[in-house]
Parts: sequence; C-alpha cells; structure tokens
Amino acid sequence: MIIDGKKESALLREEIKNEISFLKKEKNKVPGLSVILIGDFVPSQIYVKNKEKNSKEVGINSEVIRYPEEVTQEEVLKKINELNENKDTSGILVQLPLPKQINKEKIINAINPLKDVDGFNPINVGNLASGYHAIIPCTPLGCLLLIKSVQNNLTGKHAVIIGRSNLNGKPMAQLLLKENCTVTIVHSKTKDLKNECQKADILVAAVGVANLVKGDWVKKDSIIIDVGINKIEDKIVGDVMFDEVKDKVKAITPVPGGVGPMTIACLLKNTVECFKKLNS
Ligand code: NAP
Repeated sequence: MIIDGKKESALLREEIKNEISFLKKEKNKVPGLSVILIGDFVPSQIYVKNKEKNSKEVGINSEVIRYPEEVTQEEVLKKINELNENKDTSGILVQLPLPKQINKEKIINAINPLKDVDGFNPINVGNLASGYHAIIPCTPLGCLLLIKSVQNNLTGKHAVIIGRSNLNGKPMAQLLLKENCTVTIVHSKTKDLKNECQKADILVAAVGVANLVKGDWVKKDSIIIDVGINKIEDKIVGDVMFDEVKDKVKAITPVPGGVGPMTIACLLKNTVECFKKLNS
C-alpha cells in the first residue's frame, strides 16, 4: 500500500478549514500566522509561498515579513517581540536556514512558546520529552498521522528512526515512545545500520541520503515513512529505494507526495491549536 500524503493532507486541511469557520463564528476572529523570511534562498521562498497559500485556503490570516540577507539579529528579535505581544498573531514561524550573523538558538528562544508553531522552542521540546502538552514539530507530527492512517494502535511495535536531528529524529522518537513503541534511533555513527533497520515494524528515514534504505534492509509487512528530500539531477527522491521496498512492506510513503504535504497541513493544525490555547 502506498500512503497518499496528498490525500491525507487534503482531508486534514478540510477538517482545519471547518474548525476555523466554527471558531470564526464562536470568537469572531480567526487564527493569524506570521512568517519571517530572511534573504533570497530559493527553497525557503518556495516553502514560504506554499505555507502562505495553504494558510489562506483554510482561512488563516497569514502574513510574510521579509528581510534582506544582511538584516541584523536585533531587528529580527525586535519584530519577534512585537509579534509575541500582538493579539492578532497566534503563530510565529522564522523560516530556516538563517544567515550567519543571526544566531538560530537566540531566535528560537525568543518566540513565545505559546505561539511557537514549529515546536522548536526548548519549552515545547521539554514538554514533549516530559509527556506534557506541547506544540509538536510539524514534520514528525505529519509522520505520526500518516503511520496512524495505516495502523492506529502502535503499542509494542518496534520503531526504528534513522536520524537524530532536533527537527525530525528526536521528536519523532518522543512521539512513537508516547504511542508505546519500542524505539531505536540510529545515526551516522551506528554500527550495522542495515541490521538495525531489519528489526523495524515501523521505519522512519530522516537522513538526507538518497536511496540509503535498500530492499533487503526492511522487514516484511513493516510501515516505511520516508522523510528525506534529495535531488538527483532533476529528480526528487527520498532516503528509501522506493521501487525495491514497496512490494515487500505493508505501507510506504512516496517522495514526493508523502510526508511533504503533511508537514504543511500540520503547520496549519499547530496554528489553530495555538489560537485555541491563546483564546481559551
Ligand atoms: P539533518 O539535521 O542533516 O540530520 C540528518 C541525520 O541523519 C543526522 O542525525 C545524521 O547523523 C544522520 N545521517 C546522515 N548520514 C547518515 C548515514 N549515512 N547513515 C545513518 N545516518 C545518517 O537532517 P534533517 O533536518 O533531519 O532532515 C533529514 C531529511 O529530511 C533531509 O533530506 C531533509 O531535506 C528532509 N526533510 C523533509 C521534510 C518534509 O517535509 N518532507 C521536512 C524537513 C526535512 P549524525 O547525527 O550522526 O550526523
């Protein structure tokens, strides 16, 4: 089975749209998302454009605040403080990567944790790790929803996550632990990666190495989530060798059309969650 991320994302966006029209009637206002975009890095421009378009489609009030590459850290921090105080802003997102004069940690720490729609602020990271209410980073949240679209009860499953980034691997592990999985995280220093992957009932690849996971790395009837986005010539491929793996497993996400669309839908979901918490 191929997990259709576009379809799952469309369903989620429809749910969000309905929820926003309900909230609009109830509270007489809608969630607002402010995105800070620095510089001209083309992939960031594309991501932000998509985020803006999707936000507007579900009824979120979206604004993009643009700065040139040479903007100072003070100026960006001042804007974040303004947005933290602004009652019309429910979510703040600073598009990464940042230019070298700007310290990523300082920026992430400055965002009000209640408006931190990316879930990168240490307060949200700590809450997630402690099992408390947290804003969950969009990509791992999307991955979990895709896994659950195939199998709702994950108790006792052995999940293997390739990659230990703050963005993907670590929060993914926390989420699957919360679902009662037995979780293994593997990374570039892991000995015998193939052997570890072969034990996975659920395998999440968040690496950034094209076609790393081969057909003989996966367990029969497992669920495979491919987070990777890699460019080979003009083609986008994942971290999993899709053609070798797809007939052996229970379910797999394609690249493109798998995790990517869910990431954006989860950003909208997080914006609505922030709005509800701020207005409760
Ligand atoms: P990252 O910060 O570079 O982390 C990559 C992880 O993979 C690291 O933990 C690294 O190990 C590990 N790794 C690298 N090479 C490896 C190898 N040969 N064997 C085993 N592990 C290896 O990347 P990221 O930000 O998590 O992103 C991962 C991928 O997901 C990228 O392709 C990115 O473009 C994609 N992505 C997709 C979405 C989406 O919406 N679909 C969203 C975000 C990111 P060490 O820690 O030991 O270095």
